[in-house]
Amino acid sequence: MSRLDREQIDRLDALMNERWAREFREIRSMLASLGEERQRAVFAERAATATDEGLLQTLAGVDDPLIRQNLQDVRDIVAARQRIAQGSYGECTDCGESVGHERLLAYPTAKRCIGCQREHERRKAAAEGRSGPR
Ligand SMILES: [Zn+2]
Repeated sequence: MSRLDREQIDRLDALMNERWAREFREIRSMLASLGEERQRAVFAERAATATDEGLLQTLAGVDDPLIRQNLQDVRDIVAARQRIAQGSYGECTDCGESVGHERLLAYPTAKRCIGCQREHERRKAAAEGRSGPR
């Protein structure tokens, strides 16, 4: 199992920080155009004044597919940072093998190796009554 060294983890962490900033830029710009007029004013104010973490709380109750997608990405980053803190970052959560540095550079939040990810998606698709990849 090839473990990531500190330098590689720092680089991946920096990639996630960039992505985090981008997600929140998008979330803030989308928030201000959401909901009815009164709601928009509240959202616009929170988007301007709240911290990222504070905004996450606000967003928990927002039912918008685009924001949900951004939120999922943000949660993936939170989970990846936890794995870094626990020292398990870069290990597949399913089989325990290395996720692979190349794969992490492309998907810094990846929690499974490519084999387990494919298997996971295949099972998920089967469970949802679909066959094959999207
Ligand atoms: Zn695996």
